[in-house]
Amino acid sequence: MPAAKQQPPRFKTIQKLNLEYAPVTITQYESTRTGMRLAVVDQKGPKVNGYFALATEIHDDSGAPHTLEHLCFMGSKAYHYKGLLDKLATRMYSTTNAWTAVETTTYTLDTAGWEAFAQMLPIYLDHLIVPTLSDAGCYTEVHHIDGTGNDAGVVYSEMQATQNSGPELMDLEMRRAIYPEGNGFRYETGGMMEQLRSLTADRIRDYHREMYQPKNMRLVITGEVDHDELLQIVDAFEDTIVDDVPEMQAPFKRPWTDSAQTPPIKESVVKTVRFPEEDESTGEVMIGYLGPHYDDHLAASALAVLTQYLCGSSISVLENTLVEREQLCSMVYCQTEDRTDSTITFYMSSVETERLAEVEQRFINLLREVAGKPIDMQYMCDCTTRLRRQLLSRCENAGDFFSTIVIEDHLYGSRSGDDLKQIETLDDFDMLLKWTEKEWRDFFSKWLADAKHVSVLGVPSKELSEKTSSEEKERVKAQRERLGEAGLKKKAEALKHALEENDKPIPESLLEKFHVPSAESIHFIQTTTARSGAARKMGKLDNPIQTLIDKDDTGSPLFIHFEHIQSNFVRLSLSLCTTSIPTDLKPLLTLYLMNFFTTPILRGTTRVEFKAVVLDLEKDTVSYQASSERGNADMLCIHFEAEVERYAAVIGWLRTMLFEAVHDPARLYASLTKILADIPDEKREADQMAASVLLMVQQAPGSAVRAQGVLSRWLYLRRIRKMLKEDEGAVTAKFTDLCKALHRPENFRLLVVADIEKLPKPVSAWQAFTQDLDLTKPLQPVDDRKAHLSAAGRNPGHTCFVVPMATTDSSFATLATKGPDAWDHPDLPAVRVAAAYLDAVEGPLWVSVRGTGLAYGTYWRWAVDTGLMTFSIYRSPDAYKAWTVCKQQVEAYASGEIPFDRFALEGAISEIVLGMASAEPNVAAAAEASFVNQVLWGVGKEWNREMLARVRAVTPGEIRAAMRKYMVPAFRPEESNMVVTCAQIMQEGLVGGFGGAGFEPEVRTLESFQDGYGLVGAGGEEGADGEDEEEEEDEDEGDGDDDDEDGDGDEMVDTPGSEEDA
Ligand SMILES: [Zn+2]
Repeated sequence: MPAAKQQPPRFKTIQKLNLEYAPVTITQYESTRTGMRLAVVDQKGPKVNGYFALATEIHDDSGAPHTLEHLCFMGSKAYHYKGLLDKLATRMYSTTNAWTAVETTTYTLDTAGWEAFAQMLPIYLDHLIVPTLSDAGCYTEVHHIDGTGNDAGVVYSEMQATQNSGPELMDLEMRRAIYPEGNGFRYETGGMMEQLRSLTADRIRDYHREMYQPKNMRLVITGEVDHDELLQIVDAFEDTIVDDVPEMQAPFKRPWTDSAQTPPIKESVVKTVRFPEEDESTGEVMIGYLGPHYDDHLAASALAVLTQYLCGSSISVLENTLVEREQLCSMVYCQTEDRTDSTITFYMSSVETERLAEVEQRFINLLREVAGKPIDMQYMCDCTTRLRRQLLSRCENAGDFFSTIVIEDHLYGSRSGDDLKQIETLDDFDMLLKWTEKEWRDFFSKWLADAKHVSVLGVPSKELSEKTSSEEKERVKAQRERLGEAGLKKKAEALKHALEENDKPIPESLLEKFHVPSAESIHFIQTTTARSGAARKMGKLDNPIQTLIDKDDTGSPLFIHFEHIQSNFVRLSLSLCTTSIPTDLKPLLTLYLMNFFTTPILRGTTRVEFKAVVLDLEKDTVSYQASSERGNADMLCIHFEAEVERYAAVIGWLRTMLFEAVHDPARLYASLTKILADIPDEKREADQMAASVLLMVQQAPGSAVRAQGVLSRWLYLRRIRKMLKEDEGAVTAKFTDLCKALHRPENFRLLVVADIEKLPKPVSAWQAFTQDLDLTKPLQPVDDRKAHLSAAGRNPGHTCFVVPMATTDSSFATLATKGPDAWDHPDLPAVRVAAAYLDAVEGPLWVSVRGTGLAYGTYWRWAVDTGLMTFSIYRSPDAYKAWTVCKQQVEAYASGEIPFDRFALEGAISEIVLGMASAEPNVAAAAEASFVNQVLWGVGKEWNREMLARVRAVTPGEIRAAMRKYMVPAFRPEESNMVVTCAQIMQEGLVGGFGGAGFEPEVRTLESFQDGYGLVGAGGEEGADGEDEEEEEDEDEGDGDDDDEDGDGDEMVDTPGSEEDA
């Protein structure tokens, strides 16, 4: 709560930056008492995010920085209770988190609405500046030996799980080779296990005193922030801690900037690191360079452009040569890191183990070859402008983008604010556009081609994998013997005491002091909707944007939904209905999406190859993507983002990709190979396979989601690829039929998100798109997923499959029953709260299942579009036992036998509120939500806000009723469908257990659920598809599947996880 206002806050303003190119203001303040800095990034929207960054340099591998990250959550001077911060956060529409990297520990507070953030802030700061750091906390969180003689502790276990992984070992080796002794970038801030075993509480407390001073901290806050109130809150907080921290004038050596600087790499070296791995066939290569100094901002921008030029897209030279043509690795990418001197690291993955050294050498030679040839100045210019465009687009949806910049400024920038000031303009890019070929070539040579580097070859080792575990066993055995019976007993006692001290219950009176803000304190972003063509049938709108649309009306029936926002970009999406596609062609949809933007096209009579297509697409856009439609998984979505001036050009691209693509067998083959390469990994995941089997069982073949599921893809697309080799005409004919069925105006719903006032011809620009299309057919209704339910999906019950799998040593269960089946269903708010309550961290199922080791987790999902509720038990040593306990818990809550905990209930509601705010953090997301609500879900534009109010008003009685109606039946054999995937040895026990509970479990193989959609297998004999297709699978090993065609990190196809809701 704001402090009394007798005295103005003791803060001075360091700077206020108004960015020239985006509507963003960044204000920096500094406390005149402690030197703590605050940077506020003003941004409209429901989210307020805090990043509390500390520069943390250390010259050993003790892990003190990482242990502090954990210990700060264990209680503070004013709030002694472990878990209080998180308990409060879960009620206050917030989550807390933190990360420790080599250079910083940064704590985060992610909140909906300023009011809640303002309440959380001083409590959080108390935990960071004056944490309790008790011996008991260090004992349980950092490291201890338990009663059985094993080493344990939260941080210790975390490092145990990661320390010996390939990437960690390679990264550490790289830093050890680049940075000399005494340079902070050299050390493992997470803590090496052997050092963690001897790290003392006093050492951690010393490190805290040294580093966690207010003047070494910067609070970065993004969102709708009340600046005055913020300064008052922090000022009042400083009153309470000013005597606990070193004086402002006390000598302080600023981490990184005041330390010895990094010397240049003297000699190029190649290091080899072995890492434990059962499969020894492929390894990794890392090649690192030291880049420009932090304050050389122009060089940093040039580097970003150059790395984009070298490996920013599927058509850039490194990717094209090493992956596509020479097939030396599955992927090559580059990461630059801002440090006092930046680092430039190239990675090549899945390199044949015997060829690691050769491939490293090839990379170095290739860089020199490229640097020796003339630079493609046109492409360099394209890269510069594209990067600039992408930057501008990200600025509009600021958030984490600016937080990273300010955190880096805190670590390495000048305290005067001069470095941060650089972001006010994008002059760097204008200067780079004027660079001559020679300037680029010199830059390239200086930092990469002629620069000294450190290479690390990561070699997988089965022997090391065995040795590591046997050595660890030996060590623990010796430790046990050393301690003896009496010693172990003492250890058990000590742990018990520490746990008791840590886990003192939080008094309710303390929790009650905090008032949860109303949902009205969260400000969602407003957009304006307008409609043209068939979209007008959704209702007449009266607003200035609609007037603009009406003025440009052409009378065309093409369905266009407009969302007006403040932006310099236009986002254009085409949602496609798939109902009109013949069922036997629907499994081709995965291939359709993968191939959509990597295909040759016909311009008039001239064939343009796919590389030229991608090159041109990149010139015209910020990003492009083909995927499943987010608001309706049976539909597809083609999406473009571009500068608003490119509106007509993007409409042209949409027409070209839909109607002028050439179905090239070679490209289809390449796309198929990428898709099929992923399937073996997917098939290994037992939890995903439980969901996939359930999808096959509950959906009819006509469901596009089912047709794209892994169990359809697996069989169908392998057969298609085989067919492509034998009779490519037959495949291209099928593909052409699919496109013909799909590419009809009656399947089209368009969404245009832009500042509509900036579009000269919002509607008539589409005439170029619709010319010679048949627009007379009535619009297809939005795909109805319920129409594609199987009998088992329509009426769940008496369906239970147990699927043994060789790739798991655990068990997973997914069950489904009827749930609310409409977006405006009156039970939906109560169902959501019930699910959030049961699933909560430290909630009923967590405590009874995870806490007792019966399963790693459980979760509920509701899917209105299919009208099914699912419940999953994740990774259990005995899914039947876990199921029994879940059933008891759900029934006991539903009957009222166990009452709800008031605070936990508030927590469940708060989690839903935060989730809804997080789904619409910025204008683009808010506009998309408006389209989904109105067009795809058929609810009002304000649905989310209404749902929020309804969720807040749900009563305990309504929650119990929802549990009785939808959750208790999930455990009744006659009302639910269940799929259990498990280790082979568990099969018998699970069949016995579930059989005893009234289910009729049928044991079936995973293969038996696949569906070839009538496509005949190899040699023409249907069904005999087993062996020879398995063989074929091996042929294309090593083919990459990671090109990111649109260069913005988005996957081209729908994530497999989306099957879960089915
Ligand atoms: Zn950790």
